[in-house]
Amino acid sequence: MKGQVIYLDYAATTPVDGETIAAALPYYGSTFYNPASTHMLGQIASSAVEFGRRACERAINADRGTVYFTSGGTEAINQAMKCVDIEAGSKVAVSAIEHDAVKACAEYLSRRGHEVVTVMPTEDGIITPEALEKAIEGGAALVCVMTVNNIVGTIQPIRELAQVAHRHGALFFTDAVQAVNSIELDVKDSDVDMLCVSGHKFYALKGSGFLYVKKGVKINALLDGGRQEYGLRAGTVDVPAVMALADGITRAQNCVDEYNAHAKILREAFLSALDCGKQIEIGPHVDDILSVAFDGVDGGRLAVALSVAGVCCSVGSACSAGSATPPDTLVAMKHGGAASSVRFSFGKPTTKAQAEAAAKIVNDTVKNLLAAKV
Ligand code: PLP
Repeated sequence: MKGQVIYLDYAATTPVDGETIAAALPYYGSTFYNPASTHMLGQIASSAVEFGRRACERAINADRGTVYFTSGGTEAINQAMKCVDIEAGSKVAVSAIEHDAVKACAEYLSRRGHEVVTVMPTEDGIITPEALEKAIEGGAALVCVMTVNNIVGTIQPIRELAQVAHRHGALFFTDAVQAVNSIELDVKDSDVDMLCVSGHKFYALKGSGFLYVKKGVKINALLDGGRQEYGLRAGTVDVPAVMALADGITRAQNCVDEYNAHAKILREAFLSALDCGKQIEIGPHVDDILSVAFDGVDGGRLAVALSVAGVCCSVGSACSAGSATPPDTLVAMKHGGAASSVRFSFGKPTTKAQAEAAAKIVNDTVKNLLAAKV
């Protein structure tokens, strides 16, 4: 373990599984064809894309022809929020603990004349049906609440929230980017209208993802160009990425229990070896994401010091890295330790020994930082 760098930032990105690379590989070489080509070889690639689409649909219990491939979570979020067919000036409700992509799209909708309301979480990081009900009294057109929060890992009551949205005439969109490894996704049972995922969070390729759009929900293209993806996403389809997505999401959804059992062991090992800091109190949550507040220490400085000491973790999401502000999620939860928090996230390759060793490095690093202050 000595000298080894311990990566505890799997919520930022994951490595690609060997089997998933194997699923993608032929489509870079022997079957490299363009799925939009009408000739026989193009049709082989096109069949692969349809096979991949069906696998992705099956993984989330979606109807045939409801999944559209995108370049990842951010693009899917942009399409869901900017291109869904909702009335001009209508109300859009967005939770206060969303990823920056959702927040930026909400700002765009506000600039375009929509009334955007923010739904605040409880102090333990949950968006309750009651809070949503209050926010959209009198009706709304669109509600956006993520499935699993990317900073503290809280699991949102998506089914109940979707019911509230529907009762008030709104469509319901969930960003499920952080949920694929740990939650069994079922778009029918949860009755969501739109859902997005991102390949690089579940051991598939970066720059890949999809948007699910329930049959009957009207949505337009985000990108202008060719008629690929049934006219909803112009641009040549990245066939290897689709094959990796299909393999990755199938594998992840088939192994949720195993994944969660492993994550629980890692979380417990890490926390029991940690003799400083305070785990942020949260409601129902996944075990692979953990935020800890370290009293008297700046979270940003600690993350840098930990990186030097050999533990790679983060303050907030990778997308907001470089900003000096504490994670929005913790601020929205009114957590006093927002500025002193660090996020640790575990993954399939993390071992119990690594989790324990990382906690010991955190202990020493925090002690050193505190000692340097006096
Ligand atoms: N939504 C959440 C909750 C995320 O954690 C991320 C990535 O960190 C995204 C969306 C953006 O996904 P992508 O990196 O595929 O654009």
